[in-house]
Amino acid sequence: MKIGCPKEIKPQEFRVGLTPDAVREAKLHGHEVLIQTEAGIGAGFSDEDYLSAGAQILPDAAAVYGAAEMIVKVKEPQPAERALLRKGQVLFTYLHLAPDEAQTRDLLKSGVTAIAYETVTDARGGLPLLAPMSEVAGRLAPQVGSWTLQKANGGSGVLLGGVPGVSPGEVLIIGGGVVGAAAARVAVGMGATVTVLDRSLARLSYLDDLFMGRLTTRYATAAAVAEGLTRADLVVGAVLVPGAAAPKLVSRAQLGTMKPGSALVDVAIDQGGCFETSRATTHQDPIYEVDGILHYCVANMPGAVARTSARALGNATLPFVLALADKGWRKAITEDPHLRAGLATHEGQLTSPPVGEALGIPA
Ligand code: NAD
Repeated sequence: MKIGCPKEIKPQEFRVGLTPDAVREAKLHGHEVLIQTEAGIGAGFSDEDYLSAGAQILPDAAAVYGAAEMIVKVKEPQPAERALLRKGQVLFTYLHLAPDEAQTRDLLKSGVTAIAYETVTDARGGLPLLAPMSEVAGRLAPQVGSWTLQKANGGSGVLLGGVPGVSPGEVLIIGGGVVGAAAARVAVGMGATVTVLDRSLARLSYLDDLFMGRLTTRYATAAAVAEGLTRADLVVGAVLVPGAAAPKLVSRAQLGTMKPGSALVDVAIDQGGCFETSRATTHQDPIYEVDGILHYCVANMPGAVARTSARALGNATLPFVLALADKGWRKAITEDPHLRAGLATHEGQLTSPPVGEALGIPA
C-alpha cells in the first residue's frame, strides 16, 4: 500500500504521524511510504532520516494526498487538508468529531474512510491511542506546575521537592487515571508530598499498591477536595467522565481558601476543564491569574515535548497502521473489533453513533 504522511499544519503542532522507525517497519512489510518534505522537523526528524529509512520525500501536501492510499497524521484535518481527501482513501488520525460539525460534514462529503485514533479501544476497555498522550501530559503537569510556582512567574516561590530542613510542597491530584498516575509518579519523584483523589476505589487501591506509601489516596468527596485545596501548593486537574464535559470540582469562591500564589494545572481543559475558573491557554501564553491563584490550562500539552510525544504516539499507532496497510481497512477492522471502534466515516456515511447523536446526523 502507498502510505502518506503530510506535515501537520494546525498551529503549534510539532508532532508527525510516522516516525522514521515506523517507515522502516512499513517498508519491511512491503509498503511504499510518502513523506511530505520537512514533515518531521518539529519532532526532530530530518528528510534525510526518512530517506535513509526508505521513504520517498514529496514536495507538498497535495502530492502526498494525491498519491497515498492511506494518510497517517496526528491532528484532525484542517479545511485545506479536507479538500484533498477522496473516496477510496483511508485517513487514520485524531479526529474529535463530536464537537466539530464542519469537519464531520467535510469528511462525509469527501467520501474518505476515516478512522479516529481516540475511539480505538483495547481488550481492557482502555483507549490505547489516547493513553500515550495522557502519559505525556501527566508527566508534564508537575514540571509545568513547579515552573508556574516560581516567583518570577507570579507563583508563591515554593520548591516542590523542598530541601533538607525545609518541608516539600504539597501536590493535590484530582483524578487518578492515566494522567493522574503519571503526574503522581513525577511529583513523588520530585520529592513533593502527594495526595491523589478519585471516585474509583479500585483505582485508589491500585495507586496505593503501586506507590507503596509514597502518596496518600483519598476518595474524592467535595469535602476532600475542599480540604485538599487549603493545603495544596499545586493542584492537578486530571478527571475524565468518558463522553462528557469535565465536572467542575473547584469553584471560584474556593480559590480564596488556597494559599496565595499556588498553582492549578488543568489537564482536563480539553474536556472543558475541572476548575470553574479554567479557560484554555496556549504554549505561548500558558498561565494567567485569578484571585491570586495561577492557572496553567494548555489544551495540547504534549505538543511542548514533540520529540517524545511523536515517538510515543508512533509506538501506539504502528501496529494498527501495519494492520490497515497489510490487510486493507475492511479486513483489518473486520478481524479487529478494537480497530473497528475507530471507524468514523465511510463513503459519505457516518459510522460513529456517539458522533451522530452529538451532531444530529444519522449514523
Ligand atoms: P482516565 O479515564 O485514565 O482517568 C480519569 C480519572 O478521573 C478516572 O480514574 C476517574 O475515576 C476519575 N474521575 C472521574 N470523575 C471524578 C471526580 N468527580 N472526582 C475525582 N476523580 C474522578 O483519563 P486520563 O487519560 O487520565 O485523562 C484525564 C483528562 O486529561 C482527560 O480530560 C483527557 O482528555 C485530558 N488530557 C489532556 C491533555 C492536554 O494536553 N491538556 C493531554 C492528554 C489528556
